[in-house]
Amino acid sequence: MSDQFKNLIAGEWVQGASVNANINPSNTGDVVGEYARASKAQAEQAIAAAKAALPAWARSTPQERYEILKKASDEILARKEELGRLLSREEGKTLPEGIGEATRAGQIFAFFAGECLRLSGEKLASVRPGVDVDMTREPVGVVGMITPWNFPIAIPAWKIAPALAYANTVVVKPADLVPGCAWALADILHRAGLPKGVLNLVMGRGSEVGQTILDHKDVNAITFTGSVGTGRKVALAAVSGPVMKKLQLEMGGKNPLVVLDDADLKTAVECAVNGAFFSTGQRCTASSRLVVTAGIHDRFVEAVTERLKGLVVDDALKAGTHIGPVVDQGQLDTDLKYIGVAKEEGAKLHWGGELLNRETPGYYLQPALFTETTNAMRISREEVFGPVANVIRVKDYDEALAVANDTEFGLSAGICTSSLKYASHFKRNSEAGMVMVNLPTAGVDYHVPFGGRKGSSYGPREQGAYAREFYTTVKTAYTFPG
Ligand code: NAD
Repeated sequence: MSDQFKNLIAGEWVQGASVNANINPSNTGDVVGEYARASKAQAEQAIAAAKAALPAWARSTPQERYEILKKASDEILARKEELGRLLSREEGKTLPEGIGEATRAGQIFAFFAGECLRLSGEKLASVRPGVDVDMTREPVGVVGMITPWNFPIAIPAWKIAPALAYANTVVVKPADLVPGCAWALADILHRAGLPKGVLNLVMGRGSEVGQTILDHKDVNAITFTGSVGTGRKVALAAVSGPVMKKLQLEMGGKNPLVVLDDADLKTAVECAVNGAFFSTGQRCTASSRLVVTAGIHDRFVEAVTERLKGLVVDDALKAGTHIGPVVDQGQLDTDLKYIGVAKEEGAKLHWGGELLNRETPGYYLQPALFTETTNAMRISREEVFGPVANVIRVKDYDEALAVANDTEFGLSAGICTSSLKYASHFKRNSEAGMVMVNLPTAGVDYHVPFGGRKGSSYGPREQGAYAREFYTTVKTAYTFPG
């Protein structure tokens, strides 16, 4: 195997038990690299290393942590084009999307470098005379991280950066499909001066490496992003040991974009096309349900279709590509299955949904737009996670809101309207963690909380200063000076 892409355990690059070929979905003949798959024993060694490194790291000064995170941020930003290219090559996002995500990772590290210096406590007067009460935040301990394939650098970054900023040690398992960006991040942090064992990278399968992290008694907290099905398993495992682990789960979505009669048509079309189809629709915040009032419905469908006809689906690394390939054969099969299910249920495939041939062998799928759908159909209820969206016609705002909220998920919800009254009402009454007005449901800032409700999320929010709720534990200390 290549000796380049090993696991990082206790500050050493270690060969795995087997090797995983990282394949470019735009060109399946192109192997991005060979990445080590850790064994169960190696995952256990990584956890032991994180535990051993914890006492000293927990006592490190904010300045020490600031310098390492800042250095990592500087390197990521300086290499954003190269890292973005790696990302697009292994995941299939277009190059501008890949570079954008790499930039985001650099910005996240810069934000949390600053957070190292801002961690504060509180002091209150006691209800008893002469007693002081102070509340301080301490690290949670060893944090296990399990990440999905669709944001190969941003999600590891938005978990690793706050964990380190608040003085935790880390064992991270990236998605088996896209280990390249997480490896690059571990390499950057290692060289930025992290003491050995503070960050451990164990690549490999969820069922082996992930499960070992979930089951291990020395892991104090688990942060997971992925599907609802895996999330449920993660939650059960995390609370079944002698000491229950602190838990944070970010999972799927079936995000509605409501378009009202009074919407600016151009804005609505851009929100829909961007939100539903960019990044190949492979975003947890994708607008997969387009809930459109009757007065604008036909004009909206026609304008979205025209816009889709102009989009280029091709190799993610080619200039001019708007939509890259689906990530792999398994996801492509899922997308095609749902296209079939929607047709069987009576939805009209208004445009797209065909497999495409390009110069190189890859998983190319034309974006699919369904019309004449109801919110009861499976296409409206289950997450597809591909370039597939359906339009649901409703009579008015009240029905639109009811349909938007009628889902097991609650990650992001959007509305396109020029009415302050409806926009305000939607912001207050949407059952989602994030609400967008005249903006796509996907695409968020890095310095504010991210997360959802209902089946989409469980536990404290990620990102921004809110991340400290998960990555720290509060200690209340009482002092009677005598
Ligand atoms: P997935 O659930 O298949 O896998 C996620 C991670 O869990 C991977 O690293 C996988 O190896 C690991 N895993 C699988 N089985 C495991 C087990 N038994 N024990 C421990 N770990 C295990 O999800 P995916 O296909 O990689 O990602 C797509 C999903 O992620 C979609 O549902 C999407 O909506 C969701 N997602 C959510 C957010 C969010 O913030 N809400 C962001 C991105 C993606």
